Amino acid sequence: MHLLNADLHSHSHVSDGTLSPEDLAQRAHAQGVEVWALTDHDEVRGLAAARQAALAQGMAFLTGTEISVSFAGETVHIVGLGFDAEDTALQAGLADTRGGRRARAQAMADGLAAAGVGGAFEGALRYVSNPDLISRTHFARFLVETGVCNDTYEVFRRFLTEGKPGYVPHQWARLGDAVKWITQAGGVAVIAHPARYKFSATAEYALFSEFVAHGGQGVEVMTGSHSEAERVRYAEVAEEFGLLASRGSDFHSPTESRTDLGTLPDLPGRLRPVWEALAHRIQRP
Ligand code: AMP
Ligand code: MN
Ligand code: MN
Ligand code: MN
Repeated sequence: MHLLNADLHSHSHVSDGTLSPEDLAQRAHAQGVEVWALTDHDEVRGLAAARQAALAQGMAFLTGTEISVSFAGETVHIVGLGFDAEDTALQAGLADTRGGRRARAQAMADGLAAAGVGGAFEGALRYVSNPDLISRTHFARFLVETGVCNDTYEVFRRFLTEGKPGYVPHQWARLGDAVKWITQAGGVAVIAHPARYKFSATAEYALFSEFVAHGGQGVEVMTGSHSEAERVRYAEVAEEFGLLASRGSDFHSPTESRTDLGTLPDLPGRLRPVWEALAHRIQRP
């Protein structure tokens, strides 16, 4: 059976993407995406425009968000799909999670200034559409624009990752809270890009088992940040933990993202796609 072209992970300028929700919907449709979810970091405020634009294009739509979580000393991202975006507990949880971003950005700018890169707070802000969502990506764009680095990947490597001058440790949401906000709003929680975390085997096992114990049900197998070997590995992990499998490009920008919307390979046929479990939550044109 031919699998659906579902892309369930992408960002608009409501978080750290560069396109509006409407332009992202248009690009997803042009790329052949049949079911699309917008998953802005710690935000749902782009979903109404995204939904309207998706349905106008004739494309099916799922609500989404990508929640920043602190677990075992690492930042982990939990994607929520198919929830009720009006749910007040979810909205309050996301507002709390976003809350410290401005002070964190100030501290990042201080660190960068000490390393000789001045004006980074104001510089990053020029790329921000949502004042509640200043992200490392906005700083990265500023450092590329000013010629300090050649591309955003270089900025992260030299300035914005642990131990580097612009990195500021931050306390995000708790894993159990993030999963609860999503599931109690009728959605499915999914571990995003699991290969990106620098966990020991023990800590990774703890992440998956605690996630499942809290009611988490899915894992990204096909994502823009997995190599072929990592796709194979997390397909096995999905089976081991009985998780639904997801597929999403994690698209942020036409000029920065290496994986465009709708272009990843299909999920391995033996895995159960998360969008099948969410059939009743998919909004159709
Ligand atoms: P923040 O939520 O402010 O910590 O920013 C996290 C975002 O930065 C991620 O969602 C990615 O878009 C981007 N990012 C994180 N690490 C890297 C990296 N090594 N290279 C490029 N972008 C990255
Ligand atoms: Mn991002
Ligand atoms: Mn992520
Ligand atoms: Mn993402």
